Amino acid sequence: MSGGSASALGINGLGRIGKLTLWHHVARGHYPRIVVNLAPATVRKHGTGFDLPIALSILAATSQVPRTALAGAAAVGELALDGRVLPVAGTLAHAVGAVRRGAPLVGPSECRDAVGSVSGLAFHGASALSEFRHGLPALTPTPSASLMRDRGTVDMQEVAGQAAGKRVLEISAVGELNVLLVGPPGGGKTMLARRLPSILPLLDPCEALETAVIHSVAGLDERRALSGQRPFRAPHHTTSTAGLVGGGTPPRPGEASLAHNGVLFLDELAEFGPAALQALRQPIEDGEVRLVRAEGRVTYPARFTLVTAMNPCPCGFFGDSERDTCRCPESLVARYRARVGGPLRDPAASAASAPRSRRGGSA
Ligand SMILES: [Zn+2]
Repeated sequence: MSGGSASALGINGLGRIGKLTLWHHVARGHYPRIVVNLAPATVRKHGTGFDLPIALSILAATSQVPRTALAGAAAVGELALDGRVLPVAGTLAHAVGAVRRGAPLVGPSECRDAVGSVSGLAFHGASALSEFRHGLPALTPTPSASLMRDRGTVDMQEVAGQAAGKRVLEISAVGELNVLLVGPPGGGKTMLARRLPSILPLLDPCEALETAVIHSVAGLDERRALSGQRPFRAPHHTTSTAGLVGGGTPPRPGEASLAHNGVLFLDELAEFGPAALQALRQPIEDGEVRLVRAEGRVTYPARFTLVTAMNPCPCGFFGDSERDTCRCPESLVARYRARVGGPLRDPAASAASAPRSRRGGSA
């Protein structure tokens, strides 16, 4: 192996672990070839999480860390050029996978809080590659199952007035119904929708972990889900279909899955493209998104309460008792409303008029 390719394979941080011993040996031709085999070849690999396992494998193969200490362990983590072990997206998912395999997990010590929610996990956290000099770092104590339970910062109780809108959301919360809020711009539809999670029960530990794993895979902060907060996702109407339901290469969960066990809010519903709305049919009906790719199928859970909002007409003031300015022809109003169709015409959906907030309301 040439010195150049050895460098590309993860000499990162060896300065700390053995004064560039490996580099020294490679340069002297002691290790003519190092093959890193990322099997199975049919699964596309991506991300920087392979840095740590590749480096540990090389160090074990060259007897620079005790090989037996690493046997059977799973490892994930990115390496900085100075040898620090950095967190990567999806560490929580790796923790769940490690428990299922009955393997200890070696990873960035920064992730100890998040992986602490996975019961039965043996976690060896490291902050630098040098900590592996004598084998696995000591078992890292992780905080017990759940972090502090937290309802978040917004609350339905803060809303003054808006009786009709609040009533509809309460019915939705109890009956797990999807909701369509219709009202003029500035009427408080978004403000109300954002507070729906505050009247839903906190996530139970199982739901919290499930939701947090999706957020972890997407590279988002998983701590809110772990603290029991139901997710609230409000994608813009320009969001692509892949952004909404998942997709891309490598596949990533979309907003529908990030809202799993929480609320997906589509404001200005009539502005969303028909293809995007049609793509929501599967998660609405099945509670999951199935993506088919050349290298296999990916299924993401996507069970959410759907809250949608739209203006009553293109100008937004059709039937507004306080501002009688709407001159939209009836045919235009009908066409505008007909844009919302397909899966969103769910018979279970409730419709509510969210009137302009009264003076003194908090909208
Ligand atoms: Zn109008």
